[in-house]
Amino acid sequence: MENHKQKSDANYDVLIVGAGIAGSAMAANLAKLGKRIAVVERDLSERDVIIGELLQPGGVVKLQEMGFTNFIDNIDAQAVYGYDIIYEGQDYVIPYPTNTGEPCGYGFRNGAFLQNMRRHILEQKDVTVIEGSVTELIEKNNVIIGARYIQKKGDRVQELYASLTVVTDGPLSSLREILSTPNKKLNGYFLGLLLKNCEMPYANHGHLIMGDHPPIVVYPVTSNEWRILIDFKGERPPRTGKLFRQYLKETFCEALPPCARESFLEALEEGKIKTFPNHRLPAKPVLKAGGVILGDALNMRHPLTGGGMTAAFNDVLRLIDNLKNVADFTNKRKLGKAIEKFYNTRHLGTQTTNILADGLYGVVYNPDLRKAFFEYISRGDKYAEETCSILAGLNKDKSLLLNHFIGMARYGTQQRIAKAEVSTENVTQSFTMVKDAVGIITPLLLTEKPDTGNKLMLEALNRIV
Ligand SMILES: Cc1cc2nc3c(=O)[nH]c(=O)nc-3n(C[C@H](O)[C@H](O)[C@H](O)COP(=O)(O)OP(=O)(O)OC[C@H]3O[C@@H](n4cnc5c(N)ncnc54)[C@H](O)[C@@H]3O)c2cc1C
Repeated sequence: MENHKQKSDANYDVLIVGAGIAGSAMAANLAKLGKRIAVVERDLSERDVIIGELLQPGGVVKLQEMGFTNFIDNIDAQAVYGYDIIYEGQDYVIPYPTNTGEPCGYGFRNGAFLQNMRRHILEQKDVTVIEGSVTELIEKNNVIIGARYIQKKGDRVQELYASLTVVTDGPLSSLREILSTPNKKLNGYFLGLLLKNCEMPYANHGHLIMGDHPPIVVYPVTSNEWRILIDFKGERPPRTGKLFRQYLKETFCEALPPCARESFLEALEEGKIKTFPNHRLPAKPVLKAGGVILGDALNMRHPLTGGGMTAAFNDVLRLIDNLKNVADFTNKRKLGKAIEKFYNTRHLGTQTTNILADGLYGVVYNPDLRKAFFEYISRGDKYAEETCSILAGLNKDKSLLLNHFIGMARYGTQQRIAKAEVSTENVTQSFTMVKDAVGIITPLLLTEKPDTGNKLMLEALNRIV
């Protein structure tokens, strides 16, 4: 991509660090407000990554609200209408809810989608895009006033000054400690392969495959490619050599639907396995004049449910809504108030996405709970529909999520007691399911921004246990 506009030593209303999903969306929306913006992005070429390739319907709705659904155009994006949940060879299909028109998600190659966003911001007259790496933020009297960066094809450190610096340098952020107190936990890695000319049981659907193996997700990203992501628990990324490929073949081929196995073996043979770390990072922003942080730099959840871009778009829109009321960004007091309000309310748009992602990740590794989850959603009706509406990012009702989460464990318990011989051991084991579910969800609730709702919920949970 042409880096056609380069200016430096200029003063801007806003400086954005990182033109990824959140940074590019921020730039596009701020340009609509008539702000003068500088964006510094380390690498403007089309990235070939395994992250951010399924945009949930809630994220699509946010793109509609921004007026940027054209970002999905001309990239061979695939409509996604729901999920097929596969558990030990059985499956249950849940369509995304359709009561708000026809919301559907989209699968695409992340690089292609992002280039559409970047192309758009490069076309905006008040946006200057610089290809370079930000090395540090510049502060004066405890106020962030800009950043130092090194251009991609150069070695000279340059400076940019702006009334507001937006930090969106993504999952591997080097700047997050300036604007937050991060407590990042590595959950392991996703291994990604592209399945070419593959068939899956349901065209235009995401597939979650659970069983006595690490979870697998598969969704379409172009008209002839499906992304497969396999969870790998470990402190370090696996070495993806011949031995590891053999392990993947032996462990996962049988778990896949028969129609996908040949493509999987071909992809393994081709050997293009990519890995990316999966983190959990609760948001702990720190108010600092002149700066704001959002996207994965601030907050991450497990990518099992594909919620990261939806969360990022929620953040962008909420921040923009608050910034709209600040006509002059040099007014530090008003700017600070707007950012504080954003930090205090952003969880309303992201907490259900975060809790479900990490909650479901706990469930798929617990044999009793994953069975209970499958049986619960297989009941259909509200058990499937409401759970799916939260996964889709369309329903943000935290109480509903909690009810289903604990309801699922209770249902599993009832089923087990009904089927098993009555013995103290069986009854005790059955109740362990509810205890495990509470154990998974309580820390997740606690790390979302506390509000009175959390307090009531925790009291209710304590009563259950
Ligand atoms: C394995 C995996 C799979 C995922 N799958 C999905 C999915 O299917 N659906 C979904 O919604 N979400 C998914 N996510 C999450 C999603 O990718 C992120 O939530 C989203 O990309 C966050 O956007 P961001 O702008 O914060 O970060 P990014 O999109 O990564 O953007 C950060 C940008 O900052 C730039 N940058 C970094 N440092 C500097 C610097 N010092 N100077 C200049 N530029 C810099 C980078 O080059 C990059 O362009 C997944 C995550 C993982 C780990």
